[in-house]
Amino acid sequence: MKGYPQLYPEFDDLLKEAIAFHGHLCAGQIIGVRIAMLGLRELGITDPRGKESKKLVVFVEIDRCAADAIMIVTGCRVGRRSMKIVDNGKMAATFVHLETGKAVRIVSLWNAREKAAARFPDLDATAAQKQAYREMSDIDLFSVQEVSVDLKPEDLPGRPLRKAQCVSCGETILDMRDVEQDGQVFCKTCASGKIFYTVQAPPRAPIAQRIQPALLSASS
Ligand SMILES: [Zn+2]
Ligand SMILES: [Zn+2]
Repeated sequence: MKGYPQLYPEFDDLLKEAIAFHGHLCAGQIIGVRIAMLGLRELGITDPRGKESKKLVVFVEIDRCAADAIMIVTGCRVGRRSMKIVDNGKMAATFVHLETGKAVRIVSLWNAREKAAARFPDLDATAAQKQAYREMSDIDLFSVQEVSVDLKPEDLPGRPLRKAQCVSCGETILDMRDVEQDGQVFCKTCASGKIFYTVQAPPRAPIAQRIQPALLSASS
């Protein structure tokens, strides 16, 4: 890729992997790969998906395209607790080195889109971004901020530190997300009444279905 081979020899390969996972090439894949590469470089992590896979936690502030690219490049996963989505609607990610405690927050600059459009005035906005985000320097695209992150033991990868049961709904709560009120243990939903869904009916048994042998053998 023009302008990058000496700086980012692995950029093209990582972008290909990101596109394969995400399903399409978009500006978010390019920005996401670059944010991740920059974050890793800032922390001095060179093998995040191999030898150093337990050293990194990343907080991503958006649940759009770029989050997938950051996941692919860093090897961090929601299901491994190494990727946290804190959805602020911002193109930003914070990389935390678990051994050194060093953390950097990378933000895509507010005027990156304008810069991309100015660079390629003949292209439409999307095409200009795709082209420009490959070529623009990190300095033109991102800010880097040293931060510290208070990562609590119950938020780290590893076995759950506590398992509780809500006295109201009876559901199991892992990882110290339970809330104590008047000496009783509740889930957050029952404790606060705040919930992302509206109850339409009481819980019921699933509709009975036979599990097909092919599915059984695939999951074993
Ligand atoms: Zn996308
Ligand atoms: Zn509950």
